[in-house]
Amino acid sequence: MNLMSKLAEIVGRERVFDDLAERISNSRDMSVHQGVPELIVHPAGTEEISKIMKLANQEKVPVTARGSGTSVTGAVLPVCGGILMDLSRMNKIKHIDKANFHAVVEPGVICAHLNAALAKEKMFFPPDPGSSAIATLGGMVSTNASGLRAVKYGTTKDYVHALEVVLADGSIIKTGTTAPKTATGYDLTRLLVNSEGTLGIITEVTVRILPLPPYTAFAMALFDNLDDSGRAVTEILTSGIQLCACEIMDRASLNVVKKRYNLDISDAEALIIMEVDGHKAAVQEQMIFIEETCKKHHGMDVRWSDDPNQRAQMWQGRAGLVPALSRLKPGYRLVPISEDFGVPLTKIPEAIRGAQQVAAKYDVIISTFGHAGDGNVHTTFVIDLTDKSQWDRLRPASDELVDLAMKLKGTISAEHGTGLTRSGYIRRELGQVLDVMKTIKQALDPNNILNPDKMGFAENDGDIFDHFAFEPLIKGIAEANSFGTDVNAEVLACVQCGFCRNGCPTFSTTGLESFNARGRNILAFQMMTGQLEPGPELANTLYRCTTCGTCTYFCPAQIKVPQIVKKARERLYQAGLLPENYAAVLENIRKTNNPFASSKEDRVSSFPPDLREAIAKGTLPRQAETLLFMGCVPSYVDMKIVPSLIKNLSKAGVQFTALAMNEICCGLPIYLSGSDEFAAHADRVMAMVKETGAKEIVTPCAGCYHTLHDLYPGFSRMG
Ligand SMILES: Cc1cc2nc3c(=O)[nH]c(=O)nc-3n(C[C@H](O)[C@H](O)[C@H](O)COP(=O)(O)OP(=O)(O)OC[C@H]3O[C@@H](n4cnc5c(N)ncnc54)[C@H](O)[C@@H]3O)c2cc1C
Repeated sequence: MNLMSKLAEIVGRERVFDDLAERISNSRDMSVHQGVPELIVHPAGTEEISKIMKLANQEKVPVTARGSGTSVTGAVLPVCGGILMDLSRMNKIKHIDKANFHAVVEPGVICAHLNAALAKEKMFFPPDPGSSAIATLGGMVSTNASGLRAVKYGTTKDYVHALEVVLADGSIIKTGTTAPKTATGYDLTRLLVNSEGTLGIITEVTVRILPLPPYTAFAMALFDNLDDSGRAVTEILTSGIQLCACEIMDRASLNVVKKRYNLDISDAEALIIMEVDGHKAAVQEQMIFIEETCKKHHGMDVRWSDDPNQRAQMWQGRAGLVPALSRLKPGYRLVPISEDFGVPLTKIPEAIRGAQQVAAKYDVIISTFGHAGDGNVHTTFVIDLTDKSQWDRLRPASDELVDLAMKLKGTISAEHGTGLTRSGYIRRELGQVLDVMKTIKQALDPNNILNPDKMGFAENDGDIFDHFAFEPLIKGIAEANSFGTDVNAEVLACVQCGFCRNGCPTFSTTGLESFNARGRNILAFQMMTGQLEPGPELANTLYRCTTCGTCTYFCPAQIKVPQIVKKARERLYQAGLLPENYAAVLENIRKTNNPFASSKEDRVSSFPPDLREAIAKGTLPRQAETLLFMGCVPSYVDMKIVPSLIKNLSKAGVQFTALAMNEICCGLPIYLSGSDEFAAHADRVMAMVKETGAKEIVTPCAGCYHTLHDLYPGFSRMG
């Protein structure tokens, strides 16, 4: 029996996946690396995971755990192949114990979902990474994630009371306790936190929770001098005020958020955002002190507010900053290498200046922002991915950023972890400690099956460009594979952050990455770089996209996924891979001018009787300023829309005409199929529209509106 069948025996055939589209869709994260799994399994409980691990250990097959795949370092990528264990189905909040300040959750619970449940109890789980809208608790524990509130509340490790973990040989252990403190034995809980899936699979987490603070306010201040901003922060932090967040953004980052924040950044070198929570009177007093201190240190445009909407908007802008960096220039993308160092608090201005000098020396963009209150500086490269010389300059630039972190007595990763990206650098920081880590790894995972080759455990030390995902791009995009400059730039700007998971309707019903916008973009990238040829598995996922664009709405970089999907479909169409049901719709439109193969006469069956009579007698004016374009769905499927529209327009005294029985499909299904017949079809529709002399078209159909408004101008002109 092969591995696939053995896994299917454990979890059921419907939860094991080996198709190419799903495997490739799971092969990337925000880093520069890629790793394609051989099989993906979605276990539903600890017992299943234990059996899977026993099997994998016997057969010496690598297993990489996956939460939501928001890793920034390649940590989640199965670079040695094997099994990718997707834990997102284990998403139950098992228990909230308010009186004892803890909650028990499965590893696939999303951080924001836990906080939504806790908010009902007036409690919260403080660690809040920028990815909290989709990051899982398992992933957060495994990377010791932290976020904006770490200044006051600490990082994930400070909130893990106990863990249930399946070890490499399948045995199940429980570490920690729900008692507030313990002094028994080694602290295995702490060892497993931040182990990036290299020591065991976390199957249950008991987290510490806190009462929600009653009142929160935030302040923002621009500075035209970095050192002034540093001095202001130091004075505030050492005054005894316990900031819960303290963020800094440099000029390159401000360029990305200035519109959202409505800021004039002409003279600004840095923006500082600070948040304080607690009792109202105390917080307000502290806000006044913060305002005065910022002004004293030459802060410009200093403001503070306790408005929850403004606060939500402000943090949304900050959370979206990372993915939005890819919008700095078309064809550019952020590249997280040496982007996460931590330094002593007072060294932050020096760290930012040092990063700016590296950027100038190697002529690359580095956007620097971070958590000024906890010494975490994100120095993020943004480069033209197709430019080999920029990639070449990244290596020495990255080395110098690591030198800088070491010189400032800092750390190479304050919160994103080691993964693959920093594997080559970890020994510089840890020295002999890495050998101790290797001994522990060998003891717990003698066959080296748990997330191998990460965290400096590979035989060669590792390199920032190991398992490099962008190699084919550097060779250039062949004309035959290109989606055109604009759509190519959309594909490249996607950083695989996965925020689209929150909106994609096909992901929400399947839970599969290949049915999510991120997965589809990864597939498009592979097509664009000539690594994937059109095939039935690609057609299956790409034609199931509804092109609703909800992903674009949720995407901080507003990637136009529907356009990408459309271009990919053109190639699938040309390769003869239009799915049968889609082909039938197109054939119906060709033969009957509507997708349902309904009759011409039925198109007016929902018109009010007097209008039908006017049409029959030929007394409906053929020309009018307003044309009602009814659309196929309102005409043939939802019979209430057309009568209500006509009733309202008639009441309003609008003089209109309609194409009535002669109306034809707007052509949206043709457009979406990737067929090249759309332009000719659009011309046919526009010729009919022109004959009516209409100056405006009113349609009750959302699809027709989108087609006429957004898609026609490129193909055909109105009057
Ligand atoms: C836009 C964006 C913003 C971010 N902002 C922050 C930030 O502010 N702070 C921060 O700390 N991080 C941040 N990150 C990084 C990332 O989101 C966090 O590390 C997050 O905690 C990972 O959660 P995940 O569920 O996506 O884990 P994944 O990416 O799926 O996995 C991460 C690691 O954990 C392991 N793992 C996952 N689940 C388990 C499990 N059950 N058992 C054992 N191992 C497991 C994986 O093997 C992998 O090594 C950001 C990422 C993005 C895309």
